[in-house]
Amino acid sequence: MDKDLLKHFNISDELKSIAEKVYNSERITFEEGVLLFEKGELNFLGSLANHIREKKHGDITYFNKNFHIEPTNICVFDCKFCAYSKLIREKGDYDAWEMDEEKIYETVRSYDNTDITEVHIVGGVHPKMGLQYFANLIKNIKEIRPEIHVKAFTAVELEYMCRKAKVSYKEGLKILKDHGQDSLPGGGAEIFAEAVREEICKDKCSSEQWLAIHEAAHELGMPSNATMLYGHIESYADRIDHMNRLRELQDKTGGFNTFIPLKFRNGNNQMSHINEVSVLEDLRTYAVSRIYMDNFPHLKAYWPMIGRETAQLSLAYGVNDIDGTIDDSTKIYSMAGAEEQNPNMTTEQIVDLIKKVGRHPIERNSVYDTVNDYGEEAMQEA
Ligand code: SF4
Repeated sequence: MDKDLLKHFNISDELKSIAEKVYNSERITFEEGVLLFEKGELNFLGSLANHIREKKHGDITYFNKNFHIEPTNICVFDCKFCAYSKLIREKGDYDAWEMDEEKIYETVRSYDNTDITEVHIVGGVHPKMGLQYFANLIKNIKEIRPEIHVKAFTAVELEYMCRKAKVSYKEGLKILKDHGQDSLPGGGAEIFAEAVREEICKDKCSSEQWLAIHEAAHELGMPSNATMLYGHIESYADRIDHMNRLRELQDKTGGFNTFIPLKFRNGNNQMSHINEVSVLEDLRTYAVSRIYMDNFPHLKAYWPMIGRETAQLSLAYGVNDIDGTIDDSTKIYSMAGAEEQNPNMTTEQIVDLIKKVGRHPIERNSVYDTVNDYGEEAMQEA
């Protein structure tokens, strides 16, 4: 958006000065971030976020081709927002699962002769699946498919694995890296503000531990992502505090690729009494994230969670990545009432979805190298 268009917004001097900073590529402060949430109207936030998005990426919108393996949903923890896990005592429940190893390898082999580039492995924290088990699992997956990128284990799973194996985070991650793990997903961050964390997921890894694990991964040259669970009992200041802790770590390591705000869904969990926020609030959250997280290269909307149309809209509010074509292989969000119950989109569908809102689709690998360019010009040249 042209800077002059700002004149068309009837905004306070405080918001105007934030806009000036954005147009001058200056970082905004904590207080200014909170103010954007409190006072920024959707169109205003969208204009600023889109300015940053287009400056960083133009019209490019990334997606990738991946599949998910969720080895188990049995978990030693009991997060109140989780609709997915089963406690060990519920092991016999019809919807509890533990995949045996052979089944996992079969799943990997089922993608032979496909152009999938990534496997995303996360699950519950099972007391019997430890560091060595997962290290061997990754090694065997890489033997089946050497070129696949293994993005695996949230910091919550890693904290438990390392604790049980009595190794430091760096030692544990080094073992996994040596067996073939390439990067870390961003899950388990939820909201860093300790008082909220105590309410919604008090028994799992602390915010400090989450950040220490990602810092250790970055030091080992393993990139990672970061999520934020929003729209439950957290305040706007809690959201900015979360982003701020990530922004500080990114200043130090530069190891994060993508920030992924995740909407709280209230289906089938212990927080079902809390109303979900509106699509408007989703878009505002994407926009403020794009404005605040100035050192994160990418902002992702996870389309199975918010649905295809909101994902399309989000591309005008700072988002430049809508995740993968994903096979029908993840249950984490569908069990909590996400928009997509059987999330899968073909390449053609995802390309079409991006083009319909005037953006340029690019299939990326896990570290944002171009795999296929589906822009008009690239298609004509081909
Ligand atoms: S959110 Fe993760 S750690 Fe928490 S109960 Fe669910 S599976 Fe376990």
